[in-house]
Amino acid sequence: MNNGKQEIILKGLPSSGGIAIGTAYLYHREEVYVTERILTDEELEAELVLLDEAIERSRHEVQKIANFAHEKLNEEAAQIFESQLLMLDDVEMRKALDMRLRREKKNADFLVYDELQKYKELLGGASDELLRERVVDLDEIGQRIMRNLQKKRLHSTVEGEHVIIASQLTPSDTILFSKNDVLGYATDLGGITSHAAILSRSLKIPAVTALHTVTAVVQTGDEVILDGQRGLLIVNPTQDHREEYELKLRRIANFEAELKGLVDLPCETPDNHKVELSANAEFINELEYVVTQGSKGIGLYRTEHLYIEKGDFPSEQEQYVEYSEIAHMLYPQQVIFRTFDIGGDKLLDTAVPESNPFLGWRGIRMMLDKPEIFRQQLRALLRASTMKNIKIMFPMISGLTELLEVLELLNDVKEELRGEGMAFDESMEIGLMIEVPSAVFIADELAKHVQFFSIGTNDLVQYLMAVDRNNELIADLYQEFHPAVLRAIKHTIDTGHANGLWVGMCGEMAGNPLATLLLLGMGLDEYSMVPSVIPEVKTIIRSTPFTEAKAVADEALSLSNSFDVRSFLYTYMRDHFPELYASWMTGENGENDVE
Ligand code: PEP
Ligand code: MG
Repeated sequence: MNNGKQEIILKGLPSSGGIAIGTAYLYHREEVYVTERILTDEELEAELVLLDEAIERSRHEVQKIANFAHEKLNEEAAQIFESQLLMLDDVEMRKALDMRLRREKKNADFLVYDELQKYKELLGGASDELLRERVVDLDEIGQRIMRNLQKKRLHSTVEGEHVIIASQLTPSDTILFSKNDVLGYATDLGGITSHAAILSRSLKIPAVTALHTVTAVVQTGDEVILDGQRGLLIVNPTQDHREEYELKLRRIANFEAELKGLVDLPCETPDNHKVELSANAEFINELEYVVTQGSKGIGLYRTEHLYIEKGDFPSEQEQYVEYSEIAHMLYPQQVIFRTFDIGGDKLLDTAVPESNPFLGWRGIRMMLDKPEIFRQQLRALLRASTMKNIKIMFPMISGLTELLEVLELLNDVKEELRGEGMAFDESMEIGLMIEVPSAVFIADELAKHVQFFSIGTNDLVQYLMAVDRNNELIADLYQEFHPAVLRAIKHTIDTGHANGLWVGMCGEMAGNPLATLLLLGMGLDEYSMVPSVIPEVKTIIRSTPFTEAKAVADEALSLSNSFDVRSFLYTYMRDHFPELYASWMTGENGENDVE
């Protein structure tokens, strides 16, 4: 019941999946404020001791949280607090503080505040979102030291089950609240790469960030529904919404119990047709989770984050270290590394401005213009391949000449490594992404030179439909199920098979359960997706005979518009997989297509 209060629906970023229904608790972290003071000589010595004690106490507090994270969470989560400990142990910062204390004779809490401001400005101005998000960690450390200098205590605990509403949560808040029965987190600020968001996912607590006005709209005690899959917070929900979400929660619980049993089972239809499910990944710290979801390895490792984080191309050695670590972590599973796909929306601020970057200097085009840099990446990948579990693929190939140029460079690099006596996997499979429409039509020519195709639907759809994949104004024209897209996929799979290749897909469509049977029936050999959806896709495949999937694909391919294809697939899924349909195939997906 919403007690006659008006229902309000806020939209933010879906930062951690799952659904929570409960009452809100508005949390205001008590900030520590400082005022600048000049110390007497006697006070100065005491202040130095106080600073020592405050840092030591802060260390002790963070260590306790880190221990908890080590015990209860994964390595990535624990790492967040290890980095905070490193900041506390930072010798340079400590030296700077001591020096300023002696020279300026100002109170330590003011100097801590002032020193951190400098670092925050530096990070806050970074072009990379990940680095900007780290300001919160720095703030948390600063607040902790200042609080301890002022001998104040902080309580991040709430009695009872609540959805926590806050302007922003620090990593420690996220952990400490979780020790009680927190149901979910909804914040005004924060992105999906913030440490609080990473921790929420790791703790499996639903979270929605970037709601902008949530602390202004919600009061403690309000009824709320938090939908971490769609990024919604429904405040004072109507009876209908409440019932709808309660049903979803019950179905998800049953369904999750079933999925747990699937991890070690092969991805095989009841009539023995096998396909591979692998995961898309971008960061080394995602891999542990990947392995637990029952994937066959990594079907797409996006390497460009190395460039984005560094602000420049990483050296061969830096790349070698990362690629070989990944290969070791995954062994005997396979990993497909995609060479740098920089450009489009993944540009640094320093890049040459282009009026149409998605049609511009991107992916393989940029790399072929920078052969020295490209060679370093190829050398690093080859050197990391000695365990024979690495494959390489190239993004944005639009023509044969381009592919031949790439392969010539690759052969050259191999020759060079042989000359240097460096070992690498001589039989490594090479593939290319099919994501530019021209590549679909010359797939037969391209197929003669590689061992596999991986269909990149994210770009293939945008280029086939002439719809910018990031433009909200025309988002409804971005149609994965448009007949032109389906025919392009089918043609690519058939052409690949006719030439002895295996064909995978690493665009988002591979992880859309609505597309699972359609792709299976078209003959797709490998699906690579966000790891969390692997169990859903696996259960669909394991429950449907290949002959049935073929009939689904034939029917879908015979339809003349996207709306009809989706309606057909929705009806099929509703009738055959009611739990899946109810748990996250929400009505809006089926009904907003525009032809
Ligand atoms: C794609 O285009 O489908 C793809 C997987 O690559 P990205 O999203 O990195 O462009
Ligand atoms: Mg792409």
